[in-house]
Amino acid sequence: ETAGDFSVDWLVYHATYTGDYLAAVDLDTGREFTYREFYNRITRVAGGLNRRFKINKGDRVAVLAHNSTDFFEILFACWEIGAIFVPLNWRLAGPELAHILGHCEPSLLIVDEEFEEKLEGISTPRIVRRSGAEESDYEALIRNSTPDFDKQAIKVEDVAMLIYTSGTTGNPKGVIHNFHMVRDTIIHAAQHGEVNIRTRSLSSAPLFHVAGLNGFAMPLFHYGGTIFMMRNWDPARAMAYLEDPELGITHMLGVPIQYQMLAEQPGFASAKFPSLRVAGVGAAPVPRSLLETWQAKGVGLSQSYGMTEAFSVAFLPAFMAEKKLGSAGFRVMHTQIQIGDENGEELPANQVGEVQIRGAAVTPGYWNDPDATYKAFINGWFRSGDAGRMDISGAVYIVDRYKDMFISGGENVYPAEVENALLSHPEVARAAVIGVEDTRWGQTGLAVICLAADSDLGEEAVRDYCRERLAGYKVPGHVRFADELPMSPQGKVLKQVLQERYAL
Ligand code: ATP
Repeated sequence: ETAGDFSVDWLVYHATYTGDYLAAVDLDTGREFTYREFYNRITRVAGGLNRRFKINKGDRVAVLAHNSTDFFEILFACWEIGAIFVPLNWRLAGPELAHILGHCEPSLLIVDEEFEEKLEGISTPRIVRRSGAEESDYEALIRNSTPDFDKQAIKVEDVAMLIYTSGTTGNPKGVIHNFHMVRDTIIHAAQHGEVNIRTRSLSSAPLFHVAGLNGFAMPLFHYGGTIFMMRNWDPARAMAYLEDPELGITHMLGVPIQYQMLAEQPGFASAKFPSLRVAGVGAAPVPRSLLETWQAKGVGLSQSYGMTEAFSVAFLPAFMAEKKLGSAGFRVMHTQIQIGDENGEELPANQVGEVQIRGAAVTPGYWNDPDATYKAFINGWFRSGDAGRMDISGAVYIVDRYKDMFISGGENVYPAEVENALLSHPEVARAAVIGVEDTRWGQTGLAVICLAADSDLGEEAVRDYCRERLAGYKVPGHVRFADELPMSPQGKVLKQVLQERYAL
């Protein structure tokens, strides 16, 4: 490695020096790989991609697959040969996938058998993963390839991955992640998540989003720890894994709803998580009541705030959680955060404005989309689209997304604040608030609530409860009860779906 080069030699490093150490365990299939075995497979995948499929530096390799340890083999194989890794959201429908594939033009698709039907009419060469390992094209590729490929030098500004945003705000955009971002992510996660060779991380977040990839996965492989992969999130299973002293899970990263679901498990009150040291939570507003529930259990949740375009830009260490309750924490190293206005000018402390970010961990832009890239920056700052404020100590408080804010009687209402108030009620299990038309106030809040079992809370009682805690214009004008809230795979409430369902 010379100055300006980036070396993804982590796997070969661990394979050489701690080769017998466990790299990855697939909790669904029971397959497990030491670093030596894992790296051996990676080099064969790289050989197959490069020699058989003629994948070279800069080519895109798209993956449409469930979470599994194979995912990381493909990722690291791509980087051996300098190819760009493009993980796809398998929940997308055929036409949505076709749009993305037309946009990034991959040279190869690696796809789970069950998702093949979504790719009708798509002629990109493909490798199919089948559940019976024997007849899987993917396993055949590994068996029939040799670790022989054109190893490529990588520069920090080279593109490592494209992560497509969920497209809730228009067509999905391919966020460029270069190796600079990869490197910073590792440093930040290691610093704030205390990742090292003894880290044993339970991983269930979808790997087509940065939380799953950049969370306790890439940093973990960098430091030579062990990943335990779950194909899907299942709170009962996750709880059993966390309690298992033999697995010794030290790290977990989840979205708020996952911690909520764990807390709702029957045995939670008496459960012991003997090795759990770092429980990271982020990607969506974290209700205070949830932080308190876990605090009471003796597990401080470590909050972080981030986005696809920059990964986690703020962390709140668990030991600061009480002092800065409700805050998303302090900026990470190498990254600046300011609360700015629409011209990218900084606002005074404690004033609510847009969270704007700058530094090496910020994306250089969107793939093949100069227009979106141009609009995403102002005055050199990346525009998060989130409303927030910063106190004089530099702690950042995320208020809500601007696009979810509504105006009632001339006053700004941030739904997250109302949701926090609702969730502090012991009989409210889930809550989401949207702005709906109102003849008198222009807009008013509509709260959709899932009640805890046995609760018979009514609309008026809910509104009374809010009235005691919130200014009148924030009290939802309407309350609806539901069994579940529509959620994205990252655990975010799909407000757009609520709008369609409940708009008056
Ligand atoms: P799309 O851009 O496709 O609409 P998205 O906005 O959900 O999808 P992501 O990059 O997945 O894109 O999510 C980033 C957003 O998640 C942030 O801008 C913020 O609104 C929210 N978020 C992340 N972490 C936190 C947190 N700790 N507290 C509050 N909100 C958070």
